[in-house]
Amino acid sequence: MNERFFKCKCCGHCCHGQSTVSVSMDEVTTISEWLGISEEEFRRRYCVQKKNRLEMRVVNGHCIFYGPNGLCEIHAVKPFPCRQWPLHPSIVVDKTAWQAIQKDCPGFAKDISHEEIVAELIRLGNFSKK
Ligand code: SF4
Ligand code: SF4
Repeated sequence: MNERFFKCKCCGHCCHGQSTVSVSMDEVTTISEWLGISEEEFRRRYCVQKKNRLEMRVVNGHCIFYGPNGLCEIHAVKPFPCRQWPLHPSIVVDKTAWQAIQKDCPGFAKDISHEEIVAELIRLGNFSKK
C-alpha cells in the first residue's frame, strides 16, 4: 500500500486488549508445528476457549505472543486476522468501520477520506465493493 495512506508504526496497539485474536483449527496445527510442540500443549499454554472460538491468551493486557521488543513472536505463522489487520474488508463497505479503524490505528494517515482508502484498496485488488 502507498505509504501516504498507511505505514505500520509497530506500536503494538492491535495486540493489546482484554480479548485477542481467534485461532482456527488449521492455525493451531501450523503454529504448533512451528513452535515444535503438540497441538494439545499449544492449546493449553497459549490459548483460551471462549464459547465457540479459540483465542490467544491475554497476559498483562496483551496477546501472549506480543514480545518484549514490541514485535509478534510468531510473526511467520500468525493467525489470519493478524496478517490482514488493519486492512479489514469492512473498510470498503462501511464508512463508520473505516472511521473507527482509522482512529484506532496510528499507521493510517488521518487526512485521507473514505473514498480515497476505498479506491486504494480496490486498486490493490484485495477488496471489491460487493
Ligand atoms: S495499531 Fe496499526 S500501527 Fe500499530 S502495530 Fe497495529 S497495524 Fe501497526
Ligand atoms: S499473534 Fe502476534 S500479531 Fe497476532 S495479536 Fe498476537 S502478538 Fe499480535
